Amino acid sequence: MSAIEILNQLKEKGIRFTPQRQAILEFLLSTDTHPTAEEIYHHVKKRFTGMSLGTIYNTVKMLKEHGYILELTYGDMSCRFDGNPENHYHITCQECGRVFDYQYSFPELEAEKTKDRGFKVTDYRLEFYGFCSECAESGKEAGQ
Ligand code: ZN
Ligand code: MN
Repeated sequence: MSAIEILNQLKEKGIRFTPQRQAILEFLLSTDTHPTAEEIYHHVKKRFTGMSLGTIYNTVKMLKEHGYILELTYGDMSCRFDGNPENHYHITCQECGRVFDYQYSFPELEAEKTKDRGFKVTDYRLEFYGFCSECAESGKEAGQ
């Protein structure tokens, strides 16, 4: 969904976006780096110097609540945000910490997830870990 479509849907719900908040949304839709709130802040602040970190938190919270973005949480590490709200998987590089989309699907898992032991499954997480191509190339995974 484009930023304009999202803004129009929110407007119909009575939610208006300032240019600052619009820039946050546009940045999230334009990147696949899964930025943290701090990373979003540093990016958007280049255009809006008066931007506060609080505006970032409010905006991502609202976008998440309305289902337009995903929040990825990693234990006690920072949360990351994803402009793609569809269910998809992620792989974290154990060397550089970057989070990438993992482009595989697991049809069996998708089909079975609501059936097990009569449990009404509402959500699930599947995380992958490894070394990104850059880190693997530089031999860091071998501890060199
Ligand atoms: Zn890496
Ligand atoms: Mn993603």
